[in-house]
Amino acid sequence: MKSAKLINGKVELTAVEKPVLDSTGAIIKVLGCGLCGSDIVKIRHANQNNEEKIVLGHEVVGIIEEINDEKSKFKVGDIVALGHHYPCLKDDCEFCKNASYSMCKTFKASNIIPGGFSEYIKVDSNHLKYTVYKMDDNLKEDEKAFLEPLSCCIRAVERAGFNYKDKKNSKHSALVIGLGSIGLLMMKALRAFEVETFGFDISAQRMNLANRHGFRFDENKKYDTVFLTAGNSKAIESALKYVIDGGKIIVFSSVEDDFKGFSNNEIYYRELSIIASYSPSPSNIKLSSELLNSKKVDVSNLSTYYKLDDIQKAIEDSSKILKAYIKI
Ligand SMILES: [Zn+2]
Ligand SMILES: [Zn+2]
Repeated sequence: MKSAKLINGKVELTAVEKPVLDSTGAIIKVLGCGLCGSDIVKIRHANQNNEEKIVLGHEVVGIIEEINDEKSKFKVGDIVALGHHYPCLKDDCEFCKNASYSMCKTFKASNIIPGGFSEYIKVDSNHLKYTVYKMDDNLKEDEKAFLEPLSCCIRAVERAGFNYKDKKNSKHSALVIGLGSIGLLMMKALRAFEVETFGFDISAQRMNLANRHGFRFDENKKYDTVFLTAGNSKAIESALKYVIDGGKIIVFSSVEDDFKGFSNNEIYYRELSIIASYSPSPSNIKLSSELLNSKKVDVSNLSTYYKLDDIQKAIEDSSKILKAYIKI
């Protein structure tokens, strides 16, 4: 079968063995997979020593083709979307007991095989239990593929202290800085949580797009929570400018290695909380499935479709389009 692999810094389609279901879990025939900003970061930072281990593609939509799991709620033919990592959730795990699920060793070691840009993948029974969800027939394939990215945003919103359906959320105002696909998704997640949500980007084109989705920016306002979905000094300057004293900045983006970071005294004297949010837990994925399937978060018309054969072009186009969906 075909699978996209990183070879000498370029994504190439290689012929690999179709995965075999030799233990509990499932084989999923991939319908398509979203291209994530983190895939592009991985490609950019890869070198010849690590590129073999890099797994590309994790925003998978597919059909269960084969299943071996007695307790599973799934059957052959189900159309599902999934996340790629799951934590151990054990009481004696120093990370899980602290709700730092994405730091758990099991989380970091778990993955789909061989990666989402492949004709078939293998998932194990813990994936089936914690990260795989049946998606509503009314959603288009690319909309189903937002299961994992939306769950990442939900984690960030929860890390900011918001609980879904908490009436007090509407008393808060949030600003999202960096309105690419993940920034737009973050705003939609915040809106689903009923937080008053604004968005800012230095690109007029992205601001227009946010406007079309019903989001504004008020430069005379200060915000109690600021989400950084762009990683550069300008974005951080803006975060410090627009956050209220005592407010929170949620870091949801990497920066270049030579970036100097936040000013200690600005954080200290203004009593700011800088909180990072990285990757979703099983409960975030569950809520993501509910918000997508009920269309409480509408992700229609955000993606551009590419054929698997054109994946390199999708990567090259990533700065021009909002989101690529690779159709397998
Ligand atoms: Zn992702
Ligand atoms: Zn753990």
